[in-house]
Amino acid sequence: MTETIENLRDFNYYQLSKAVNNTIVLAEYIWIDGSGESLRSKTKVYQTQIKTLEDLEWWTYDGSSTDQAVTRFSEIYLKPVRVIKDPFRGDPHILVLCETYLPDKKTPARYNFRWIANQIMEKAKDHKPWFGIEQEYFLLKRTGTTHLWPLGWPTGGFPYTQGRYYCSIGERNNFGRALAEAHLRACLNAGIKIAGLNAEVAPSQWEFQIGIAEGIEIGDHMWLARYILERIGEEFGIDINYDPKPILGDWNGSGAHCNYSTLTTRSEGGYRYIVDKLMPILKENHLEMIKLYGQKNELRLTGRHETGKYDQFTWGDGSRGCSVRVPIITKEQGQGYFEDRRPAANIDPYLVSAALVDVTCLNGEH
Ligand code: ADP
Ligand code: MN
Ligand code: MN
Ligand code: MN
Ligand code: MN
Repeated sequence: MTETIENLRDFNYYQLSKAVNNTIVLAEYIWIDGSGESLRSKTKVYQTQIKTLEDLEWWTYDGSSTDQAVTRFSEIYLKPVRVIKDPFRGDPHILVLCETYLPDKKTPARYNFRWIANQIMEKAKDHKPWFGIEQEYFLLKRTGTTHLWPLGWPTGGFPYTQGRYYCSIGERNNFGRALAEAHLRACLNAGIKIAGLNAEVAPSQWEFQIGIAEGIEIGDHMWLARYILERIGEEFGIDINYDPKPILGDWNGSGAHCNYSTLTTRSEGGYRYIVDKLMPILKENHLEMIKLYGQKNELRLTGRHETGKYDQFTWGDGSRGCSVRVPIITKEQGQGYFEDRRPAANIDPYLVSAALVDVTCLNGEH
């Protein structure tokens, strides 16, 4: 069984697409499923050229198989909202991120939070909200038939304690670099706004950064970068894990720090605006916002392992033990951005980016 899977991986089936007549475009339609955390995708063959989003048709899928509909009313619509190059199949093939709708084509399906996020971003567009999200994740490898355990860790056991793994090099310290590197390159080839990557504090934990992206673009690029990462994982036989605290104990959890700025924070007086206006607003809205910042995030936000506490809002200049860090450079320059350290790795970036914009630009009207 394993051997068959390995053989399939060795066979470079993407080469076959080169034999496809180049007037044919393979469009991979991608959407968020009924778990709110996983992506699904399927392929549509176009015999015509695709130049813009408008050339792509709405499509449907079986929502009862993705936990988004019951069998009797099973059809969910896919509305193309963002197109990038397909780094797996190569030109002219494309990845198509979609929103999901009920059969009336108007009501958003479960976990289509892009719908509401887009309205908030539209209303606030004059504020020019910029985001950079740091996506942390673990690489898990199958041990036995069902059990998953971090890559490079002794089967069922634990590696040397943390301290040597962050931004590490060397066989003893760094697990899975080839995968992280392949992901970076695939994202760049696809046109994703990826800003960098690093090995993280826990062994076999990694991070990539998406940004700077404005408005709804941050959520789109984050989801597409996750899609590409899962697909790379298939090639390497590795499971990508976004749990906020996958391994209990003295091992860092995974976050998705959200770096954020607006026209006002980036302009003269921006630092004082962040400290005097925005920090009190975030404090006031903490308990409401934290609900949108990832499932099981309370296991991660303990006040240890470079986090603040789950039920308490704190901020600090240059501090990594707070809910929000205002970078030293923002203080020095008197303007810039801040880092919301609360979001967990399993967030929906549409919810977090829209919540920040809602409370800081729109007085929480939504
Ligand atoms: P950390 O020191 O927390 O590990 P990183 O270098 O991983 O920081 O991530 C910082 C992120 O902040 C980058 O992805 C970058 O795109 C983003 N960023 C930089 N300036 C701004 C800004 N003005 N507004 C929003 N995001 C920004
Ligand atoms: Mn079918
Ligand atoms: Mn980082
Ligand atoms: Mn990090
Ligand atoms: Mn950070």
